[in-house]
Amino acid sequence: MTTHLHPETLIASAGVSSDRGQNAVAPPLYLSANYFWNDPCEKPQYDYARSGNPNRSQLEEALASLEGGARGVITSSGMAAVDLVLNLVEPGEVVLAPHDCYGGTHRLLTARAKRGHFKIVYVDQTDLAALAAGFAKKPKLVLIETPSNPLLRVTDIAKVVDFARQVDAFVVADNTFLSPALQRPLDLGCDIVVHSTTKFINGHSDVVGGAVIAKDAALGEELAWWANCTGVTGAPFDSFMTLRGLRTLFTRIERQQATASDVVDALSQDPRVAKVYFPGLKSHPGHEIAARQQSGFGSMFSVEFVETIDVLELLRQLDIFTIAESLGGFESLVCVPAAMTHAGMTPEARETAGISDRLVRFSIGLEHGADLVRDVLNALDGAAADGNVRYLKEQAVGACA
Ligand code: PLP
Repeated sequence: MTTHLHPETLIASAGVSSDRGQNAVAPPLYLSANYFWNDPCEKPQYDYARSGNPNRSQLEEALASLEGGARGVITSSGMAAVDLVLNLVEPGEVVLAPHDCYGGTHRLLTARAKRGHFKIVYVDQTDLAALAAGFAKKPKLVLIETPSNPLLRVTDIAKVVDFARQVDAFVVADNTFLSPALQRPLDLGCDIVVHSTTKFINGHSDVVGGAVIAKDAALGEELAWWANCTGVTGAPFDSFMTLRGLRTLFTRIERQQATASDVVDALSQDPRVAKVYFPGLKSHPGHEIAARQQSGFGSMFSVEFVETIDVLELLRQLDIFTIAESLGGFESLVCVPAAMTHAGMTPEARETAGISDRLVRFSIGLEHGADLVRDVLNALDGAAADGNVRYLKEQAVGACA
């Protein structure tokens, strides 16, 4: 692996001019389900597409080199990536996870724990006392999600790794919110990185996919074995598209995070904005850790508006922002996590995690920042509830069901 090259160069050249059949410069798409053997005693490099495929290999190698890992495994979704690493845990063992992880991850961990696949312990990983109490239960696997979704809490990765070393636990970081362009958890001591490649890695909102990258080759092989065994490997076309999207990762992220910072600055000055959750703000409790362990603050933030703003009406009034789940694409998105991305959590679990029904999450795309700011300010003008405080909780059934 050419680790001495800069990451921008690695992704621009991944798979380029590798075609020995027709000398195609851009890597061709191999849709074949199976591959012929020249001789029954000579197994070809690829034999069956669930087990291996050239497009998947190219993406696996590119992501492994970007994250500084030995082996990547491409899965059919981010959830499949999270589920794949859970194969490392046996019944009776403990998984330690953040209490405010992505709603789908929370649902998966809770459902598997209910079936007795492992025990689940949720803690606020930004609270050192809570973290120590969680590690006292001697977890086998620790999942980190930083910055977290949707509250952008920042977990000190190196600190979690210190705790984990004492109990010999695997540390898995979900790096979806930043991508390897802004954070490299394996360099900070994690064993595994997972991604929903649906987000920044592909960046074009046209593929659902996932990736697992292991620092250690043997662990990577074990995960690849499980991926083939359970059949969660990603489709060739999805890998082809994702590698195509990955090539512009650095350029997109640079622009998106600069715009996010401008939009946050503008919104922070508006009296109708009660609180902005963005690690780039000096007032954010995780700002210093983020500045240390990340190489940028990303392009995701969440906002609480004053109570006289009707958040559902705010979303309806937005023109440029699209109301949708997901994040990290070229297009700016907005969502109410309680009704959308985190609806899979119980109201009690959301309350524990601090996810209010009025929280609004923004994902900033490639539009011009001034247009995005104007869009939100105009929408705020149309969303004033004239002193009639109307909570999403009361409206949700009728408006969002
Ligand atoms: N991890 C995080 C942090 C996410 O935000 C998501 C999806 O939003 C996932 C995992 C799951 O990914 P996917 O939707 O590709 O299954």
